[in-house]
Amino acid sequence: MNLDQLFFDNFYTSPESRYKAPARINLIGEHIDYNGGKVLPAAISCYITALVSKRDDLVIATYSSNIGSKYAVELNKIKYSKEYDWANYVFGVFYTLRAAGYRIPFGLNILIDSQIPLGSGLSSSAALLDLVTYIANDIYNLGISMKNIAKIAQNCENSFCGLKCGIMDQAAIALGLRDKCILLDCAKFEYEYFDLNLGDYTFVVMKTNKPRSLVESKYNKRVEECEKALSLINQEFNVNNLCELKIEDLTRVEQLINDETIYRRVRHVVTENDRVYQFARALRHNNIELLGQLLDDSHSSLRYDYEVTGEHLDTIVEAAKVAGAVGARMTGAGFGGCAIALIKKEDFKQFKANVEHYYYSHIGIMPDVFNVDIVDGPSKDIDYHH
Ligand code: ADP
Ligand code: MG
Repeated sequence: MNLDQLFFDNFYTSPESRYKAPARINLIGEHIDYNGGKVLPAAISCYITALVSKRDDLVIATYSSNIGSKYAVELNKIKYSKEYDWANYVFGVFYTLRAAGYRIPFGLNILIDSQIPLGSGLSSSAALLDLVTYIANDIYNLGISMKNIAKIAQNCENSFCGLKCGIMDQAAIALGLRDKCILLDCAKFEYEYFDLNLGDYTFVVMKTNKPRSLVESKYNKRVEECEKALSLINQEFNVNNLCELKIEDLTRVEQLINDETIYRRVRHVVTENDRVYQFARALRHNNIELLGQLLDDSHSSLRYDYEVTGEHLDTIVEAAKVAGAVGARMTGAGFGGCAIALIKKEDFKQFKANVEHYYYSHIGIMPDVFNVDIVDGPSKDIDYHH
């Protein structure tokens, strides 16, 4: 579809600029951000795009080609409303900026068009929020750093949209750098970059296409189990969070917890935290085999100890291994969504065909398999000159 035409059909004017923001994957460090651990995400070459023009009134008007609906509201009348549906993510950014004291002197027309699947764990929501914040920052000259763009986007998702997410998704996208992953402390919002020297290898995203289930309540249950574990452990230890524990502590921890399920949750957290550091070291030494092993170990731990994978993710990871991946694991919160695999670049075509065949014959749903580059965060693509 011609986006310029679509823009004109909706806003009766031509676009003035085009912007884009990437999706993200988490390479390793799953379900440990709320236990004081670090995550290792990266921005990927799967984009949300926006076409924008300035208005001479105070209205924000937005259309999404993915959903096929349009909403408009005056800047000083913005509040959360169920009726606005997805457009709350757009309006919320303007609300959050104004609440933080930024001056927004005129309205915008914003057309959204995204390759990022909605609700599949690649963070289409954070990409949308980061993108709109980035656009506002650029057009109104607000002088906001990329780090603070992530914060404003997270604020918006928390306070305006009502989702208690951490900073990982917004930060991974806003701070994305080509061929680098981000070792990110979500609690302190501190980070450092690691080179992804993958040479002949590449990451592949495998989308299970499992229909959505109640991810949030299952997620909250794990958070509670970890809180319970911490209080049991601190009968004897004195740690602020589970990631302060060492692998050597696990024997004593098992005795203190005296509950098989809760103990397995802790074992996942402690070993996963250790895997993040091993992964970063393996990146430094270009040790592809070790990277693969750590991905596999992470998935097993999430499957058997943390129990957040499920049939779809387990089957697609199994399919990837059978198809020759060096390593594979679920990525994101789990219970469906996407997995990643590390494979040889030249094998991609055959790999994709094999994974599709294996997964379809076991699950009866076609997955989406695509290879991704690790890319920069949001950017302005085009300035149209009329
Ligand atoms: P995820 O972030 O994992 O993709 P979420 O449930 O957090 O899943 O976010 C999905 C929601 O974000 C959608 O239901 C929609 O409200 C909004 N969204 C994301 N991308 C778009 C888009 N291209 N157009 C309209 N809304 C979008
Ligand atoms: Mg999201």
